[in-house]
Amino acid sequence: MSEKGGCLCGQFSYSFPREAVVSAHHCHCTDCQKMTGSGKATIIMVPTQTLEMAGELKTFTVTGTDGGRVTRAFCPTCGSQILSYLEGRDALKFVKAGTLEQSDWVTISSSFWATTARSWDPVKADAQAFETNPSSV
Ligand SMILES: [Zn+2]
Ligand SMILES: [Zn+2]
Repeated sequence: MSEKGGCLCGQFSYSFPREAVVSAHHCHCTDCQKMTGSGKATIIMVPTQTLEMAGELKTFTVTGTDGGRVTRAFCPTCGSQILSYLEGRDALKFVKAGTLEQSDWVTISSSFWATTARSWDPVKADAQAFETNPSSV
């Protein structure tokens, strides 16, 4: 089953097979809060080799709180946040769940950065929660 998604203006689109998905998570880190303009990012881990992309993305790279280099990619025209990835972890892309055409199938297995979750967007009660980043994802 092929899942499709893209940005708000339609310039960028992607697809991946649903069966390739590793897992899905909420990230409440303050960087994700800034970039999404919300309480958290919801990310789906997809193997890079299964991800097909069309269009153009612009990237912004920062050193995360734990020292890792995080690159976030977005549409240069409409600014939609599409995906992110970690330096040295090229095999995985973290696709933003809100950019999918259909996403009701997504199951959240855990939340990251519970320590910086906001009172108005608390961690999911019925899933595992890590205080910061899990040691292995
Ligand atoms: Zn766009
Ligand atoms: Zn985050």
